[in-house]
Amino acid sequence: MLEPLARIGRDPATGGYVRDAWSAADMELREWFAGEAGRRGLDLREDRNGNLWAWWGSPSRERPGVVTGSHLDSVRQGGAYDGPLGVVSAFAALDLLRGRGTEPSVPVGVACFTDEEGARFGVPCMGSRLLTGALEPGRALALTDDAGDTLADVVAEQGREPHALGRDDETLAMIGTFVELHVEQGRALVHEGRPVGVGQAIWPHGRWRFDFRGRADHAGTTRLADRDDPMVPFARMVLAARTAAAERGVVATVGKVRVSPGNANAIPGLVSAWLDARGADEAAVRDLVAELARAEGDVVAGGPGAGGRVEVREESWTPVVDFDVPLRERLARVAGGDTPAPILPTGAGHDAGILATAGVPSAMLFVRNPTGVSHSPHEHAEQADCEAGVVALADVLEDLCR
Ligand SMILES: [Zn+2]
Repeated sequence: MLEPLARIGRDPATGGYVRDAWSAADMELREWFAGEAGRRGLDLREDRNGNLWAWWGSPSRERPGVVTGSHLDSVRQGGAYDGPLGVVSAFAALDLLRGRGTEPSVPVGVACFTDEEGARFGVPCMGSRLLTGALEPGRALALTDDAGDTLADVVAEQGREPHALGRDDETLAMIGTFVELHVEQGRALVHEGRPVGVGQAIWPHGRWRFDFRGRADHAGTTRLADRDDPMVPFARMVLAARTAAAERGVVATVGKVRVSPGNANAIPGLVSAWLDARGADEAAVRDLVAELARAEGDVVAGGPGAGGRVEVREESWTPVVDFDVPLRERLARVAGGDTPAPILPTGAGHDAGILATAGVPSAMLFVRNPTGVSHSPHEHAEQADCEAGVVALADVLEDLCR
């Protein structure tokens, strides 16, 4: 199953994947999902927020299902496993259950969440945030991509109804339990010497947009003293973020920057930069962002047009998620074989975390990643470990739907 997926959205120059939500690649990935659901005779549904569901059995409010799955979109220049491994393993685990002759007492669902990475509109886990009401649909619809198109435009272009987006209690009620399998984004399992682990918690994390405003001008004829160059405070912010993160024992990254007008021979008029900050301690992450925002003095936090030289806007915030303790211990026992699987915290956000926050009993399985590299074409998992992941997932599903 990974093979036909491997060519979709692949950049031949780098080997990396570009699978933005609602792009042509995304539509191909959705077709692949529909094909896999169809081949198995599963009942395919797309909810109001574009999330896909393939059901074995018919879930209802009275009889919600055990759901597994992940996402198919990717960060730009991402790898082949982050997301797809969870969806492929979900179908493979279902096949294994059927092969074993398992007759589940509740429906089993395979899910594919829309726009988990937030590569296009800046907000990660868009599909699950909208589904659970964690993201206000009006705010989501107004988000713009690099081309200036709003989510509302893009969704409509793909034949979906933008005004249907938003909290969907009917779909939520069908999820009794959610288990997401994911390639590990670190090397804890390498150190443990185990192919599969269980998620303990997701660090609190967020994204902030910093807009540094200055005055665009000629790079040759404008005296240094006369310049109002927003690249300079931007550069100070990047350096300050590194220092502030090290001081607080958290991580902070500026991985995306947009310079306007973006000419090599012009002083920019606007520099927009995105800060991603995470850590085990929520207060430390908050404090880091507050310090960076304060550093430039006349910061204005809030909407555009507020008049300040630096505007800081929180694009997303996800508080710490502690996965359901009895559920994760049950998973560790079932997935671990003779010795319980190791239980690991993670610095990466996932749809399972959004569902957990909304009160859906949720858990995660991680599959060993030999290099620990993630969000890169070098991300990898060995075939044998992927297979161990499928078996662990099938055992877990069988246990949960007994
Ligand atoms: Zn992922």
